[in-house]
Amino acid sequence: MFQRILVANRGEIALRIIRACRDLGIEVACVYSEADKDAPYLKLADQAICIGPGPAVDSYLRVDRIIAAAEITNAQAIHPGYGFLSENSKFASICRDCKIEFIGPPPEAMDAVGNKEKGKQLAKKAKVPTVPGSDGLVTSDEEALKFAHQVGYPVLIKASAGGGGRGMRVARNDITLVSGLASARQEAESAFKDGSVLLEKYLDQPRHVEVQVLGDRYGNVIHLYERDCSMQRRHQKLVEESPAPNLPEKVRDNICDAAVRLARAAGYYSAGTCEFLVDKDNNFYFIEVNARVQVEHPVTELVTGVDLIREMIRVAAGEKLRYRQKDIVLRGAAIECRINAEDPANNFRPSAGTITKWQPPGGPGIRMDSHVVTGYRVPPNYDSMVAKLLVHQPTRDEAIAVMRRALREFTVEGIATTIPIHQQIMSTAEFINGTVDTTFIERRLMAGK
Ligand code: ADP
Repeated sequence: MFQRILVANRGEIALRIIRACRDLGIEVACVYSEADKDAPYLKLADQAICIGPGPAVDSYLRVDRIIAAAEITNAQAIHPGYGFLSENSKFASICRDCKIEFIGPPPEAMDAVGNKEKGKQLAKKAKVPTVPGSDGLVTSDEEALKFAHQVGYPVLIKASAGGGGRGMRVARNDITLVSGLASARQEAESAFKDGSVLLEKYLDQPRHVEVQVLGDRYGNVIHLYERDCSMQRRHQKLVEESPAPNLPEKVRDNICDAAVRLARAAGYYSAGTCEFLVDKDNNFYFIEVNARVQVEHPVTELVTGVDLIREMIRVAAGEKLRYRQKDIVLRGAAIECRINAEDPANNFRPSAGTITKWQPPGGPGIRMDSHVVTGYRVPPNYDSMVAKLLVHQPTRDEAIAVMRRALREFTVEGIATTIPIHQQIMSTAEFINGTVDTTFIERRLMAGK
């Protein structure tokens, strides 16, 4: 086992990894940018190393500085968390060259599924259904128009390297297709330095169901069932839960099997997620692999009892998976609300500033993953998530009741948060009945606002 790990991330996931290291008796160092210099979780690490100014390109994305930090702190392994360098196969290879263990999948597997186009090609080989789409990248307007006329509008333009909904456009006719292609390319080029795009049939009000997979270096791959992440705003997840409500057992089994097949085909190990869309007839279609631990991983931890961060560390250290598929049993229902420093009353504008009062909920059935305390200043440089509020109960109805109680207890002053929107969600009939699709927020909750 490692003696010391470097955390190459910030915020709640940095704290989550620090905690996992402590639980395993491993020393832990953590990098930080000048904008995070007062972050309270840094005191919980054995060492903290400043890697540059606030902008991520000058700090959390600087491979040279992170490798230097690992060397200075004598860390044998780096946990990249999510975002930043977590899905950068070059970074993973550089770690390997520097004889530092990258706590994640091998660079070859990252390359095999590293963008949406490659992921879909591999899925086809592994006999996993994909959303009808352009065969390969779209290189000309003519090609795009031909595809759209074949499958019919609406179609979705996607950046192959995309993430966070960037580089994505819905086109409903020839004119918006051609203009959307140009703007999606531009957006992708500036966000990901890769302007390549693909086209997909835009599915009608699908659900988002994703499968957690976990593998070791010896070819053992298991799934830890699914999460439903259909409650989204602008293709960004707001609420995640497991198990997915109203998903027939047979469909669940088939999706989970497909995810394992895909991970195997990629030579994947560590934790990863295969994302699918599910239509009204419960047909499912693969959309992409997230080759890292995800924000919503604690939902799965609650219902399976498996600590995914610990398992990632063990796998990286060369241990064999300590679970077989039959050891993984879903217990109860878990829900996560992402609490963001955004103002729902003002079109979800980011709300940076100092938190003058932070009083999180407690009591039975609650897990809070947050790096925030009273007096914390939310830096404007990074994503706006300040907490993940999770509940775990024997039944979904009880989980919703506990989440409502928790949201009511949760007091935050000084900044605006998404707590009010979660309160609204937890009281809507569609969420309570488990019939939400990915367009629900825009169609229903935001309508008329
Ligand atoms: P990103 O990597 O930018 O997050 P994804 O491919 O993961 O993009 O898709 C994000 C969300 O966009 C999905 O959860 C879903 O709501 C929507 N989406 C993606 N592909 C389609 C599609 N073909 N039809 C309808 N909605 C889609």
